[in-house]
Amino acid sequence: MPQNPERIVDHVDLFKQPEYTELFKNKREQFEGAHPDEEVERVVEWTKSWEYREKNFAREALTVNPAKGCQPVGAMFAALGFEGTLPFVQGSQGCVAYFRTHLSRHYKEPCSAVSSSMTEDAAVFGGLNNMIEGLEVSYKLYKPKMIAVCTTCMAEVIGDDLGAFIGNAKNAGAIPQNFPVPFAHTPSFVGSHITGYDNMMRSILTHFTTEENKKKKTNGKVNIIPGFDTYVGNNREIKRMLNSMHVDYTILSDSSDYFDAPNTGEYEMYPGGTKLDDAADACNAEATISLQAYTTPKTRAFIEETWKQESRVARPWGIKGTDEFLMAVSEITGHPISKELEIERGRLVDAMTDSYAWIHGKKFAIYGDPDLIYGVTSFLLEMGAEPVHILCNNGDADFKAEMEELLNSSPFGKGGTVWNQKDLWHFRSLMCAVSGNLNLQKFLLSSAINRTISFNTNKCCQSEQCS
Ligand code: SF4
Repeated sequence: MPQNPERIVDHVDLFKQPEYTELFKNKREQFEGAHPDEEVERVVEWTKSWEYREKNFAREALTVNPAKGCQPVGAMFAALGFEGTLPFVQGSQGCVAYFRTHLSRHYKEPCSAVSSSMTEDAAVFGGLNNMIEGLEVSYKLYKPKMIAVCTTCMAEVIGDDLGAFIGNAKNAGAIPQNFPVPFAHTPSFVGSHITGYDNMMRSILTHFTTEENKKKKTNGKVNIIPGFDTYVGNNREIKRMLNSMHVDYTILSDSSDYFDAPNTGEYEMYPGGTKLDDAADACNAEATISLQAYTTPKTRAFIEETWKQESRVARPWGIKGTDEFLMAVSEITGHPISKELEIERGRLVDAMTDSYAWIHGKKFAIYGDPDLIYGVTSFLLEMGAEPVHILCNNGDADFKAEMEELLNSSPFGKGGTVWNQKDLWHFRSLMCAVSGNLNLQKFLLSSAINRTISFNTNKCCQSEQCS
């Protein structure tokens, strides 16, 4: 029996068991007309050569294993950081199953999100009926405080108008007129999960920006937007630092309790999250600090243009990044950096000095989202490490320029090369093919979500975004 209910094994171990190895062997011999093992081995070795690398980098029309997810997963991640919020995806059920699976599998926590489950009829006539029925059922069954709507490729290709559909649903009595339903169009054939995060964050903030909510005086707080940071424990650390400085703040989208919920023995559908009242009051803050630049460009533009509020970017990675963040908070709020944080900084410098010998001169290859890469590279340079290959699938020209400036600012960064809009098959070539006698001792760093998305492939469609 290949599976035993007493000990369920995952697919890697499962496929090594005799039933499967026999099946694969027969399939190979009888139906696949497979090449001999030696030939396969020869080609595998060739794909590690410099010649193959050149061919791989000349590729234009094909993406293999992109190091990114599609827009709705980012939109869902942003929405789930708000109190009592249920993400509602207008589109096909399969896509939403994929988003939930990846988030649940990564965090080992339940992830609630619904879909309007559009099928053939909706593809022809539009998804209005699905939206009306879906909102009504979601509202009555799951009792959220807010429903945040985004779209999949299908709804975008048809051209579903979310604003009009939600208005129709309210007029039809599916949900109360004053029930909050922010929405973001998240076409997955452009951008990536960080674009989806930005679209949803802007949409939620736009929803709460009303004449009634905007006050004449500031509330003295500072808003923090964490961005698409999969290490939600970072939110707790940011809060600890701000509390230590006695700063009043609002984290805009705080999913630390949602994706790292305590096991109390009772299921809670919407643990934690930014209070909706605080989100509504965010427009009255002194300023907003975004911890990721490339995940929030539209949101920051909205904050500056509509709220007329200062927005800054500070990435608290390593000594320099964390200094910049704390100094920005101190400057905005007038609260000094606490003695406690000063002592911790000294301890960190000491730890870095103690471990410098282990990292200094080591070569690193890094891939991930633009802000993650920037932060990791900045910290590695502080440790005397040498980032060699830096690959980003969802960076833009500004990111490349900023990275090159960072690399050039340190003697350890001089040999680093930034590969923008490249995928993990390019990355493989970078890791395998080494020119001449340059013997790289390489370390690979990536974001956990990228590893999950890229290596546990679970395709639901064949688009390049679909991982
Ligand atoms: S890229 Fe794939 S998973 Fe993502 S929305 Fe489009 S069809 Fe769905």
